Amino acid sequence: MGPVSRHDERPHVVIVGGGFGGLYAARALAGRPVRVTLLDRRNHHLFQPLLYQVATAALNPSDIATPLRSILRRAPNVTVLLGEVESVDLTGRRLALDEGEIGYDALVLAAGAGNSYFGHDDWEPLAPSLKSLEDALEIRRRVLLAYEDAERERDGAEQRALLTSVVIGGGPTGVELAGALAEISRETIARDFRRIDPAKARIVLLEAGPRVLAGFPDPLPARAAAALTRIGVEVRTGTLVTRVTPDAVWLGGEQIRARTVLWAAGVSAAPVTRTLGVPLDRAGRVPVERDLSIPGHHEAFAIGDVCAFTGEDGRPLPGVAPVAIQQGRVVADNVLRHLRGEPTRAFRYRDRGTMATIGRAAAVAVVGPFRLWGLPAWLAWLFVHIMSLIGFRNRFLVLFQWAWAYVSWQRGARLITGPWRPKR
Ligand SMILES: Cc1cc2nc3c(=O)[nH]c(=O)nc-3n(C[C@H](O)[C@H](O)[C@H](O)COP(=O)(O)OP(=O)(O)OC[C@H]3O[C@@H](n4cnc5c(N)ncnc54)[C@H](O)[C@@H]3O)c2cc1C
Repeated sequence: MGPVSRHDERPHVVIVGGGFGGLYAARALAGRPVRVTLLDRRNHHLFQPLLYQVATAALNPSDIATPLRSILRRAPNVTVLLGEVESVDLTGRRLALDEGEIGYDALVLAAGAGNSYFGHDDWEPLAPSLKSLEDALEIRRRVLLAYEDAERERDGAEQRALLTSVVIGGGPTGVELAGALAEISRETIARDFRRIDPAKARIVLLEAGPRVLAGFPDPLPARAAAALTRIGVEVRTGTLVTRVTPDAVWLGGEQIRARTVLWAAGVSAAPVTRTLGVPLDRAGRVPVERDLSIPGHHEAFAIGDVCAFTGEDGRPLPGVAPVAIQQGRVVADNVLRHLRGEPTRAFRYRDRGTMATIGRAAAVAVVGPFRLWGLPAWLAWLFVHIMSLIGFRNRFLVLFQWAWAYVSWQRGARLITGPWRPKR
């Protein structure tokens, strides 16, 4: 694959990944004197912070995914290409794609992160993680089919195993998933199923460290654990998973029988970073310079979840959307400066807060000097997430669906699932 237009003399900027970092970089380069190619293996931008609502049937996939082409429709200097980058040749300034290759004058690598099973890759099919729409739909399918099977099951011990869900990892994703599962099992089972006793539904959240939401300041981890316990989640900290089998999770000699096991324990940078030939950190991320460039390559930058950037407090910046968005904007400016032969500027993160929800009307949030929990934190969470969704239609629909689900306790048509036998 060659440059997008052979007669175009403008410098060619290639952005890999249309997630938060890549998309905001592309938007900032719209209308600037460069030709931009935005490459992604999917044709949509995905609002990952609301993925678990799709996994637990509170939202539909189309509510949180928007085609990249439509977002960038009014940016004629930006071309969106569907393709997977297999390797990067930093010296030759070329990318090898699943089909063909493409050259660049400046590169922005924004390929995000995947999951790490800490050397236990064989656990992946047994304990899926939540990263894409496909994952969310697979998790939804497994949970709903387990409940359908439980409705038919007469044996008490089997039924209990079918109704047990284990979430491994007590970070924000694990906490959010466990909270939402507890809600579904208590409310949906109680209202829509006849033979299942809701008291038998069991949601277990396992965390190897001493507390959940370890990245949040006190008293929020304890508040989150208390809120989870209140809605029926068994929170077990200091527990290390040693084995996952098709119907159980093992903690040393202890077995928890469970049909649904979900992984929310580890992340690692997109595998394409391994082809760069530069040193990476333990999570496969590229330690970048202060201007976000890859060491030794002033024309190549890495942003968002693929990069390791030390904040002003000496700690690595977290893998969250605001970091990727702010880096996307700064990297666009640095690309232009580099192409003009001007000095680039250092990236500085403005931390406006972090939050995690715990079920229907509870959350924890750090906003500036304030630490919020319960309903006020949940309202703050709802406002921030809905306002950050791409597109007015999505914002409006999601808000409306949420309001309806809130007053009616219904997830309605979204509880439909596919074949009745689970694929293991
Ligand atoms: C379930 C979940 C919940 C989250 N909740 C929150 C939250 O509440 N708040 C928050 O701030 N953050 C949250 N995050 C984290 C946040 O989504 C990420 O930090 C953010 O998406 C990082 O942006 P990015 O641009 O680096 O990568 P991404 O948004 O992951 O985008 C990467 C893009 O690159 C593409 N790509 C990857 N490899 C290739 C390749 N080889 N070739 C072509 N394309 C490729 C992918 O398809 C993807 O579109 C959550 C993440 C998950 C998974």
